[in-house]
Amino acid sequence: SSSIFAAVEMAPRDPILGLNEAFNADSRSTKVNLGVGVYFTDEGKIPLLGAVKAAEKARLEAAPARGYQPIEGLAAYNKAVAELLFGKDSALISEGKTITIEALGGTGALKVGADYLKRLNPAAKVYISDPSWENHRALFESAGFTVENYPYYDAATRGVNFAGMKACLASLPAGSIIVLHACCHNPTGADMTDAQWEEIVAVCQARGLVPFLDMAYQGFAEGIDADAVAVRAFSKSGLQFFISSSFSKSFSLYGERVGALTIVTASKEEAGRVMSQVKRVVRTNYSNPPTHGGAVVAAVLASAELRQQWEDELAGMRVRIREMRKALVEKLAERKVAQDFGFVMKQRGMFSYTGLSAEQVERMKTEFGVYAVSTGRICIAALNSKNIDYVADAIAAVLK
Ligand code: PLP
Repeated sequence: SSSIFAAVEMAPRDPILGLNEAFNADSRSTKVNLGVGVYFTDEGKIPLLGAVKAAEKARLEAAPARGYQPIEGLAAYNKAVAELLFGKDSALISEGKTITIEALGGTGALKVGADYLKRLNPAAKVYISDPSWENHRALFESAGFTVENYPYYDAATRGVNFAGMKACLASLPAGSIIVLHACCHNPTGADMTDAQWEEIVAVCQARGLVPFLDMAYQGFAEGIDADAVAVRAFSKSGLQFFISSSFSKSFSLYGERVGALTIVTASKEEAGRVMSQVKRVVRTNYSNPPTHGGAVVAAVLASAELRQQWEDELAGMRVRIREMRKALVEKLAERKVAQDFGFVMKQRGMFSYTGLSAEQVERMKTEFGVYAVSTGRICIAALNSKNIDYVADAIAAVLK
């Protein structure tokens, strides 16, 4: 008798996790992994933030019992998330129009949101930016949606093809779900201006589109409030919309899976009904979220002292990324590469879309052990004072 798995095919490797496996198997001591989406310190380590450490110590000492959380997670956490997104004095919050549930990272928030949207409007199509975070398409397809692209990146200007994007959105049927990167676009680093966001809000309003803002990097571009510009612009509009947010990067809590799904509704009464339905999605999936990560984030955000420490540490990460951008541009100029890499300074967040071709990326890997995504995306937050000269050498070499 043959196994029930006899005909199972091998699924394709996740492109980025596959890159990590290849990197780990590389024996060269000079190797550098720029393929990841993780912030590293100048020592090349994933930081454990001081504010997190302090909150964890207090939690360990308090030795709380590990009962179940409510389906929607910790109330104090959800409140703190909403205040980061909308601002402390948001009318949406005081009027009770928003709901937030603690989710398993930004990915978990997207998945719960996608599953709920499929129940709300099964016929809708989902539109993601071209290009986008590689999991967006798979995630919404796995919820049963057809996923299409809207134009986003313009390789010629290395910025946003705003006219193309706007024209596409303006042609979509009402109810279409539009996934937007709220800040620090992954993979391109190209964000819209504040004025362009206002125009996108107006198009969504005019066409009856359903915006789904994905904010995985709040605080990595300009600061906590400045990076919430898209959320704030939609908040003023009176539209209903979805937000997935994540503390993986901003709290360096990747493995604790701390994120949130937030939904803006038209009224407090409506919010109650929507919450009841979202809870059904969660209940039949993972029942309720884990306790630790959310409790730590809530404790940091509730303490004036720890919150200040976190904001300082977040600013430190943001500043170091900017320094690495500047250093990379300077070091490539010193190596007399033909192109001007000044655009790297304008890109925001952890990544740079370098414009390197798949062949050049392959050469960096084989000749130098410098690993990047085949699209030419590199993680600026993986550069440091010790590896940046070597990386600049590698880039300059493959450009010649
Ligand atoms: N959305 C985008 C655009 C991301 O880049 C990421 C992480 O890389 C996520 C969502 C998911 O984050 P998390 O690790 O919190 O699930």
